[in-house]
Amino acid sequence: MFDKVLIANRGEIALRILRACREMGIKAVAVHSTADNDAMHVRLADEAVCIGPPAAKDSYLSTSAILSAATIAGVDAIHPGYGFLSENADFAEMVEEHKFTFIGPSPDHIRLMGDKIAAKKAVSDVGIPVVPGSDGSLKDAEQARAAADEIGYPVLIKATAGGGGRGMKVVESDAGIKEAFDLARAEAKAAFGYDEVYMEKYLARPRHIEVQVLADNFGNVVHLGERDCSIQRRHQKLLEESPSPALNEAERQAIGETVVTAVKKLGYRSVGTAEFLYEDGNFFFIEMNTRLQVEHPVTEMVCGLDLVREMIRIAAGAPLGYEQSDITFSGHSIECRITAENPDTFLPSPGRIGDYHAPGGLGIRVDSGLYSGYAVPPHYDSMIAKLIVHAPTRNECLMRLKRALGEYVIDGLDTIIPLHQRLIDEPDFVNGDYDIHWLERFVEGKKTKPG
Ligand code: ADP
Repeated sequence: MFDKVLIANRGEIALRILRACREMGIKAVAVHSTADNDAMHVRLADEAVCIGPPAAKDSYLSTSAILSAATIAGVDAIHPGYGFLSENADFAEMVEEHKFTFIGPSPDHIRLMGDKIAAKKAVSDVGIPVVPGSDGSLKDAEQARAAADEIGYPVLIKATAGGGGRGMKVVESDAGIKEAFDLARAEAKAAFGYDEVYMEKYLARPRHIEVQVLADNFGNVVHLGERDCSIQRRHQKLLEESPSPALNEAERQAIGETVVTAVKKLGYRSVGTAEFLYEDGNFFFIEMNTRLQVEHPVTEMVCGLDLVREMIRIAAGAPLGYEQSDITFSGHSIECRITAENPDTFLPSPGRIGDYHAPGGLGIRVDSGLYSGYAVPPHYDSMIAKLIVHAPTRNECLMRLKRALGEYVIDGLDTIIPLHQRLIDEPDFVNGDYDIHWLERFVEGKKTKPG
């Protein structure tokens, strides 16, 4: 087992990884920018190394700064968390070239899944159903028009390098193709430095359902059920739950087995998430995330496994030590992402926290680095906490979540807690009757069922 691990991240996920390291008797080394001198992950770490100024490109995204910190601290391995360098295959490769262990999948798998066209082809070849779409990338608007004619409107133009919903444009008819194609390319270029785009059938009312897998270096693979992440705004998840209220047991097992079989064939290791759109009983693969996900705690709550601990064990060369039949699911779990944003306008609201009181009690988990007096810096993602609730049934989970949201005090800045409180009271949500567009209709005050 490793003696010392460097955590190449910040915020709640750095703290989450640090906690797993502690429980495994592994020393945790934090890295931080000058904006994070007082962050909780820095305060609790065994060692902390300042790696640069606030701008992420000069600190949390600086490969050379992170590798230097790892060398100085003498660590055995590096955990990338999510975001930042977690899905950067070149970084994973460099980590290994420097004789550290990268706690995650192989660089080849990261690279493959990072190219969405290649990823769709690779998983389709091993039996996973994918969204109908263009045969590879689109060179120009004419090719886009021809592809759309074949697929049928509405279509979605997406960036090959995609992430965070950027570079995505819906096209309703032939008239909008050229403009959408140019816009998607420009947005992709600005976000990823790479303007290749492709096309998919635009599904009208799907749910976003994803399957979590765990795989070791010896061909053992298990799935840990699914998460329903359909509550989204601008293609960004806001609330996630497991199990999905939309699936029955047979569907759950079938999609789980399909993903496990595919992952085995691909020779994939570590944690991974196959993301699907689900409509009218059919699953359509959209992408595979080769990292720990923000919403991993809902899976941990229902299956009782510590995913970060499993990632570290796998990276250290340990076998899983259990099979699919050993994985049991219990109860229901919901996670609310709490961002420092105005709940009506969504304007960011960084600043210093006054009073702080996190909810507690049976079945409540708060993953957050917040404390009273802490200043949320303006330089990074606006997510400041995750409230995760577990209960025997979905109804009890909703009641507990309502109780916990009511207890949560974060003074000094705006948070979207009031939005979560409103949405979990909506009959559609209570009934589990929602799709990926539901939240936007709700936020815009439109009736939640499309006409
Ligand atoms: P990103 O990598 O940018 O997050 P994804 O491919 O994971 O992009 O898609 C993000 C979200 O965009 C999905 O959860 C879904 O809400 C929406 N989306 C993606 N593809 C489609 C599609 N073909 N039809 C309808 N919505 C889609």
